[in-house]
Amino acid sequence: MATLFGREIDLLCLDMDDTLIATEAGAPRRFEDAARVIRRIRPEIEPGAIVAAATQGLAVDPNRGRLVNFLSDLGISDADEVQAVRDAYFESMPGGTELFEGVHEVLATLRERFRLAIITNGSSDLQRQKVAHFDLDHRVDWIVVSGELGVDKPDPAIFEHVLGLAGVEAGRAAHVGDSLTSDVAGANRSGLLPIWVETHFPRDHGDGAEFTPAATIQHVRELLDA
Ligand SMILES: [Mg+2]
Repeated sequence: MATLFGREIDLLCLDMDDTLIATEAGAPRRFEDAARVIRRIRPEIEPGAIVAAATQGLAVDPNRGRLVNFLSDLGISDADEVQAVRDAYFESMPGGTELFEGVHEVLATLRERFRLAIITNGSSDLQRQKVAHFDLDHRVDWIVVSGELGVDKPDPAIFEHVLGLAGVEAGRAAHVGDSLTSDVAGANRSGLLPIWVETHFPRDHGDGAEFTPAATIQHVRELLDA
């Protein structure tokens, strides 16, 4: 029987982006790619305004609508234009992203104690591409992508889906992630033990009990001793 932070746990769920994978290194490149498309499709927008919006965008927590804010700052709302910019923004992924150090080894050791699931918000194409690129598929028991289910964290439905796959009650499951509003709030709402990975974006703060983790770590490696 395995415990984690004092609770008996059978199923350990993990977020992917900025929990297992560091996505920030590639962010400037993604904004450059987006800016190139904007200069082409909206030549009337001042180049300086695009640079300013990108700079501001980089300061926004990626969990808090970074690209949406960027587009709205520049007044881009036409569906085709939004799609063109989004496509360019994500084109370089998974380039510029890397696994946090030691993640494969950490997952292998955790898997001796728990069944493992990755629960990630995002489109199927993009998230599956990262799963393949970082060779994560066979290292966990289940991978759930919100875009395939039509429901995002923190909606309890996505956590209930994973609990159902594993046949585990919420009280014997934990969820680890870097977003207070998606991961910690979702785990709290669903009754999973919420563990927060405190990254370089501590701005992602919500107020209130549902955003309060049961434990805070800086790297998933710390789960090995928890
Ligand atoms: Mg994340």
